[in-house]
Amino acid sequence: LNRRLAEFGTTIFAEMSALATATGAINLGQGFPDTDGPEEIREAAVRALREGRGNQYPPGPGIPELRTAIAAHQRRRYGLSFDPDTEVLVTAGATEAVAASMLALLEPGDEVVALEPYYDSYAASIAMAGGRRVPVTLRPDDTGFRLDLDELRAAVTDRTRLLLINTPHNPTGTVLTRAELTAIAELAVERDLLVVTDEVYEHLVFDDAEHLPLATFPGMRERTVTIGSAGKTFSFTGWKVGWVTGSPELVGAVRSVKQFLTYVSSGPFQYAVAEALALPDSYFEDFRRSMRTRRDLLAEGLTAAGFRVFAPAGTYFITTDIRPLGEKDGFAFCRTLPERAGVVAVPNAVFYDDREAGAPFVRFAFCKKEDVLREAARRLRGM
Ligand code: PMP
Ligand code: GLN
Repeated sequence: LNRRLAEFGTTIFAEMSALATATGAINLGQGFPDTDGPEEIREAAVRALREGRGNQYPPGPGIPELRTAIAAHQRRRYGLSFDPDTEVLVTAGATEAVAASMLALLEPGDEVVALEPYYDSYAASIAMAGGRRVPVTLRPDDTGFRLDLDELRAAVTDRTRLLLINTPHNPTGTVLTRAELTAIAELAVERDLLVVTDEVYEHLVFDDAEHLPLATFPGMRERTVTIGSAGKTFSFTGWKVGWVTGSPELVGAVRSVKQFLTYVSSGPFQYAVAEALALPDSYFEDFRRSMRTRRDLLAEGLTAAGFRVFAPAGTYFITTDIRPLGEKDGFAFCRTLPERAGVVAVPNAVFYDDREAGAPFVRFAFCKKEDVLREAARRLRGM
């Protein structure tokens, strides 16, 4: 591995899922649902495959049906209008969207200010592009992990090229508020920064929380690349269909890079995701409601087992503090948890540059069947 990437070995998700397979433990580590998305959408993929739609290279930017459906979704939910031909790009999941955005927008040495803890592919993607990450750490208080706007402002220098934002936020479950997003937008305009915003959990917000796309804030539409994914919204993480929306200049830049990463994204699945995006609002409401029930179930179980639980306002992850259990090292805790309790979780430290700051936190995924969550909670209580 070259020097830029030497610090990135095997992702924690692969390591922890392998541990789950090897030990037979319940896998609440890697964030993937244990129930596939809607039957009718699976059928749509089968139909496309049988009818020979997408079995050969589809158009590079994505099939027109899907680009139109993405634009319609952004308009219907957020009042944002994007031209499907020039302002929408289909990617191989949000992962490619992040990597292609960094490769497209950064010059070597450019700084990227990102919220810490950050999703693991951010650091690697910034490194691939020769950029430098500058983390701004979300700090826990009674309401969860919060962004300190002064710290964010202080992190921006003359070398800062872009802000890499993620809301709803993996792994903390934080959903940035209107006030926070307003401040981020003002900062981006004032310092003339680009913003890449990962909104893959846009449909997973609970209670009073509301997902507000950064691109809807003043001055942001023209400087923001917004990333979405069918993996999260429709429970098809294996399909690897994601997308990017933004101005023709920014989306065009990302498209140029995508050509040489994957050239095109998987054909038949694009037809199916186009249908998924047009599902009635009830689909999205039911999905959200069922995840909220599971969140509550797991949060209650973890609390009963002695963890400090940060109830997430969004995503399908719960971050916990293990110190009330007399533990302080999340890595060590997660490596022995399968043996001790038959459960797999992820140490949040992997999402930090400042590993000390992340040490006491451990993430559990709740995108699992209720029975599975109940059994995991039972095992953790007996630990
Ligand atoms: N961003 C975040 C915040 C994620 O949690 C994930 C995956 N869970 C991704 C991006 C990658 O999404 P995809 O599977 O569509 O590549
Ligand atoms: N995004 C998922 C998570 O946070 C995992 C995706 C992956 O394995 N790369 O758990």
